[in-house]
Order: sequence, then C-alpha cells, then structure tokens
Amino acid sequence: MKKLTVVGSGTMGRGIAYVAALGEYQVYLQDINQESLDSAQRYIEIEMRKSAERGFINPEKVQSALERITYTTSLEEAVGKADIVIEAVFELMDLKIEIFKKLDKLCPEHTVLATNTSTMSPTEIAAQTSRPEKCIAMHFFNPVHKMKLIEIIRGLETSDETVAIAKEVGVRLGKETVEVNEFPGFVTSRMNCLIGNEAMNMLMEGVASAEDIDKALKLGLNHPMGPLELADLVGLDTRLRNMEYLYKTLGEKYRPCPLLVKYVKAGRLGRKSGAGFHIYNK
Ligand code: NAD
Repeated sequence: MKKLTVVGSGTMGRGIAYVAALGEYQVYLQDINQESLDSAQRYIEIEMRKSAERGFINPEKVQSALERITYTTSLEEAVGKADIVIEAVFELMDLKIEIFKKLDKLCPEHTVLATNTSTMSPTEIAAQTSRPEKCIAMHFFNPVHKMKLIEIIRGLETSDETVAIAKEVGVRLGKETVEVNEFPGFVTSRMNCLIGNEAMNMLMEGVASAEDIDKALKLGLNHPMGPLELADLVGLDTRLRNMEYLYKTLGEKYRPCPLLVKYVKAGRLGRKSGAGFHIYNK
C-alpha cells in the first residue's frame, strides 16, 4: 500500500491527508471546490510546521511529507493509481453513493474504498459498487493529527483482508483502532450526538449558559471538552446531518435540537464560520 487518496478536503479530509503524508503514503487530496483545496493546503502546511516546532514531529520529515501531497479537482487523476481511497465528503447518503459508484469505475481492481462517515451504513454504500468486499468505514476523529482513534466498521460483505488492510493503514498513520459492528452512529457518534443534543436542549431551555454547560461537563464530569465547543469544532452543519441520520434510523431520542437547526439556517456553523454556540476570532 503506497498510494492513498482522500476525496473531500474539508475539516476531516485535510487532516487525513496530513497524517497519511507523514505515514509516507503518496497522497492525493481531491475536492470539487478549489477554494477548499487551497485552504486545506494552507492548513496542512501551517499545522505541520507548528507540530514540528513544538517537537511532536521530526522537522526533517516536514518538507518531504508536504511534497508527497498532490491537490487536485480531478477525481480521475486522484484515484487512477490509488491503493486505498478514503472518502470524506458531506454526510449525505446519496452523495456518498454517487462517489462510491464513480470510485468503483475509476479505481484499479485492487483498490480498497473506505468512507469516513460518522454514522452511516458502509453496507448500503458498498452495495452500490461491484466490490463490496473491498469497502469499509474508517471513522477518524477531529482534529485528525491529534486524535488517536479510528473506528473500523465492517459492512456485511467486507472481507477479512480489507479489515486487515484498514487496520494496517491505521497503524501506519499512528492510530489505535477499534472494530465495531455496523449500527447507526457506531459507538462514538451515537454517544456523542446524544450528549451534544442534550446540551443544546438545555441551552434552549435556559438551564444554563453555553459557557457554564461546557464548564460543568469539563470540571464536573471530567470531559476534556464541553459538548457545545465540541459541536462547534465538528461543524454544526455536519452535526445536524449526523443527527438527522440518527433520528431517521434510531428514532425520537435523536431528534435534532431546534436550536441546532436554527443556527445552521443562520449560517452559524461553529469554528469554521467564526461563530456557533461560542464566538471565535476569524
Ligand atoms: P466539511 O463540510 O468540512 O467538508 C466536506 C468537503 O467535501 C468540502 O470541502 C466539499 O467541497 C467536499 N465535497 C462535497 N462534494 C464533493 C464531491 N462530489 N467530490 C469531492 N469533494 C466534495 O465536512 P467534514 O466535517 O470534513 O465531514 C466529512 C465527513 O467526515 C462526513 O461524512 C462527516 O460525518 C465525517 N466526520 C466529520 C467529523 C468532524 O468532526 N467534522 C468527524 C468524523 C467524521
């Protein structure tokens, strides 16, 4: 496995490209949006140099890692020789299926197709390809270069070989893995969405301010981040799509908080837009 392609250069795609380049893969980062690719390139360069200055990575490895990443809007160019593709586009089933169908046509026969979905069924996505045994979900966490875990979710037809490859990629990217049986939201998103939604409902009901809800969970329950600041980091549009899928598949308990819906309608998307449940400097 030498060539790794990431489709989608948003919050997650750029992070996966960053760790893959440090893992000595030849990386293609593809997106249909040139602005997103440009911002991904700036992000990767700044964050990698910062990590080297702080002693987290060997400074001698930075330049060669940066040179291993090719940024492109062409899917054909990005996946034509890929050994593994990791899809990280919006959390929309129809979009993921459309992309997997294209990947199935454009990629070599041996290529493993992974989705970074937070909630959705890898079986449903894989069923639209001619290689369901080579499809899998690899759920990374944000920010990818700091978070240790990848949840690995096997679809109904995923082969043992594909699971082994996903785990091997995880090791090369410096991550720990857990294998989870397919179920909406897996382990982490199911739990995290519920906690976050409850915090949003409390804010809407006037139980406490956003600052105090986050402070209460950090200092009282020992969470490293408050649930509202974590939702801001994830992106409120992404979180809303996660909630909508969990609501559809798991029921009432996961109905998205109306305040979340309102914020997304207003374009208040969290850190990436400068404001969410908290206000950030742009
Ligand atoms: P994002 O909105 O930051 O980025 C999505 C990117 O996909 C954008 O740059 C967009 O231009 C690109 N895109 C859209 N359609 C495309 C297409 N047809 N071809 C190529 N690129 C396309 O989203 P994100 O937060 O990075 O989430 C991506 C995936 O990762 C989702 O499935 C999400 O659930 C999952 N995820 C997100 C987080 C998080 O904290 N944000 C954590 C784990 C997993």
